Amino acid sequence: MEHFGGQARAPDIPNILQDLCRACKTCLAREVCPPKAIIRVDADEPPWVDGSRCRACWLCVEACPFEAVVRGAGAS
Ligand code: SF4
Ligand code: SF4
Repeated sequence: MEHFGGQARAPDIPNILQDLCRACKTCLAREVCPPKAIIRVDADEPPWVDGSRCRACWLCVEACPFEAVVRGAGAS
């Protein structure tokens, strides 16, 4: 968890849309992520973003060919 102004809140991280994610054999969004913040436990399931590692570079948003990775939908 990152801290902003002394207050802990969820950072502006990408959201992987379950409806659009096709759980590709090789997740391109995961491949391009510099800090390896995109985590995959099960090869048949969509990956998820570890907010504590994410640097908000948005390379994953560009990399996913199915537009399943969108910017900051989970942050408020
Ligand atoms: S996030 Fe995109 S590239 Fe990654 S498994 Fe889902 S559809 Fe494929
Ligand atoms: S925004 Fe950057 S650091 Fe965060 S998950 Fe996507 S590629 Fe990784």
